[in-house]
Amino acid sequence: MAEATNSNLLATNRQIIGDVFTSDASYQLLLQLCDVCGNRFAGSPSERKAADTIAAAMRANGLENVHLEPFEITAWTRGTTTLRMTAPVERDFSTLALPYSPACDLTAEMIDCGGGEQEDFTRLGGAVAGKIAVCAAETGNWLTAKKVSHRTDKYRWAIAAGASGFIFINQNPGQLRITGSLFPNAPIPGIGVSWETGNAILRLAKHGDHPTLHISDTGTSQRVTTNNVVGELPGDGSTDEFIVTGAHYDAHDIADGAGDDGAGTCTLVEAGRALANVRGELVRGIRFIAFAAEEVGLFGSWAYRDEHERELSRVRYMLNLDGAGQGGGGSETMSLTGTPELAPFFSALAEEFSYKFDVVDRFAGHSDHFPFTLAGVPAGGIASRDARQGMIGRGWGHTEADTVDKVSLRGLQMAAILTARVLLRLSVTPDAAWPGRHRTPEELRQQVEENDYTESLTRSRRLP
Ligand SMILES: [Zn+2]
Repeated sequence: MAEATNSNLLATNRQIIGDVFTSDASYQLLLQLCDVCGNRFAGSPSERKAADTIAAAMRANGLENVHLEPFEITAWTRGTTTLRMTAPVERDFSTLALPYSPACDLTAEMIDCGGGEQEDFTRLGGAVAGKIAVCAAETGNWLTAKKVSHRTDKYRWAIAAGASGFIFINQNPGQLRITGSLFPNAPIPGIGVSWETGNAILRLAKHGDHPTLHISDTGTSQRVTTNNVVGELPGDGSTDEFIVTGAHYDAHDIADGAGDDGAGTCTLVEAGRALANVRGELVRGIRFIAFAAEEVGLFGSWAYRDEHERELSRVRYMLNLDGAGQGGGGSETMSLTGTPELAPFFSALAEEFSYKFDVVDRFAGHSDHFPFTLAGVPAGGIASRDARQGMIGRGWGHTEADTVDKVSLRGLQMAAILTARVLLRLSVTPDAAWPGRHRTPEELRQQVEENDYTESLTRSRRLP
């Protein structure tokens, strides 16, 4: 089946590569999404405009049955946020409310909660009660760390310890205030600060006893309708199995969201264009989904999963593109989600494509593949990193620096080519050569337990 031993597949791959490398359609779409539509924050008019832009691009590219699938969310609108140290020294700081942070006027003592991991809160015990918990944002490299606790985990541990507020410190220098969503009806204020501000707060707090902060915020929440954008390429009719691929087109309200996940959205649409031009070669159909409202709680992918639950047993693989297309290409990783049987399959593709990409397997729950994973569908994602950054966690993501100038046409082309080639292979590989399998609810509950997701999924009533 390798390209080298299958002349038809080799010719199709050459067409895909040539097609993508002789077009700037992906970058033009990025400019449309970021410069014309805007930040695409969940539930905003900008997000709605982006949905229509993506649908138009999918139609122009030859995808079929392109349509919007509406669903309701609780959206949040940013107000004005202030942060002031009132003791032991007086100082004003620049900050951002985390989406869904409740409007507040809070004065309380602060406490240094280190990395904000569960063991930090266990160590501090009753000392956190009533205080504003100050902790680090992402503290590890997602691709190598066994587990990197998510912001919402740290926030919930702070609440469980009795905190009255929550401050999240970016771990990458550059005066970049970090954002990242809490959840609807979040009970205590949560704000993000830069590395420099976080360090100043922790340092100045040592100048006396009872360091005290004042936080005020005027954010609001409201119910609104938003839309996933869906398009398809049909298979040859020999099987009703199909492939799903997706990327979230929404972003945070403070930047272009060019890397997270404008680039992934453009990768999705460009891979669709390249595959539409070779549609006669497809065996299994491919469904392309641009998800809305990912950043504020995976609402788009949950809505899609709920609406299409009965079809999901026919999905061979869900390929998520959150973070694809960043950097200059050549640094892509396929991250599997608790499906080790697929690692040799994708590693072999890297060999057969003569295009190196890494394959890792880590059961991670914070992007649009996860609702599919929890429905038993084998799922994973392609993401690219900018090797020049030397930053941890999300890098420029979730800060005001996630801007168009960080993304290049070459990076988008490289990711679109890899994505299209992987999707083609997923479409044509016969069942006998496909090692993937769906998980049972029992298996999923065990994976969820082993990876510490039981508590959060029980709370959100999403346990398999
Ligand atoms: Zn993302």
